[in-house]
Amino acid sequence: MACIFCKIASKEIPADILYEDELVVAFKDAKPIAPVHILVIPKEHIESVADLKDNHEVLAGRMIMVARRLAEELGISENGYKLLFRVRKYGGQEVPHIHLHLLGGARLSENIKPVE
Ligand code: 5GP
Ligand code: ZN
Repeated sequence: MACIFCKIASKEIPADILYEDELVVAFKDAKPIAPVHILVIPKEHIESVADLKDNHEVLAGRMIMVARRLAEELGISENGYKLLFRVRKYGGQEVPHIHLHLLGGARLSENIKPVE
């Protein structure tokens, strides 16, 4: 059974898609934590950054370049933004299909500290 982001990539379940090409899809996060909150995912199911292989270099670069271009188009580039990959359990990753968070439209706090 396909994972939820595979289903978004294949249009089996709806999402507010802002960009798509042969490698990636970008869509609005369902529960935004910033005025702009977009996820960029590969169409290929790869669980996390830790699972990338050498042949994924172009794909990984594409994800960043798409986020960069969307930030520009959405007018949040000049003030700046965050790009975030959560990786596996300690990174707080909840959906096991790589996704790059594009977060912006406001000054965002740092909140990275050990839980325990
Ligand atoms: P993570 O915590 O894995 O880095 O982030 C997962 C993100 O996916 C969360 O920000 C969550 O709101 C978003 N998300 C989870 N399920 C869906 C969905 O079905 N549709 C959309 N658009 N976003 C989702
Ligand atoms: Zn998937």
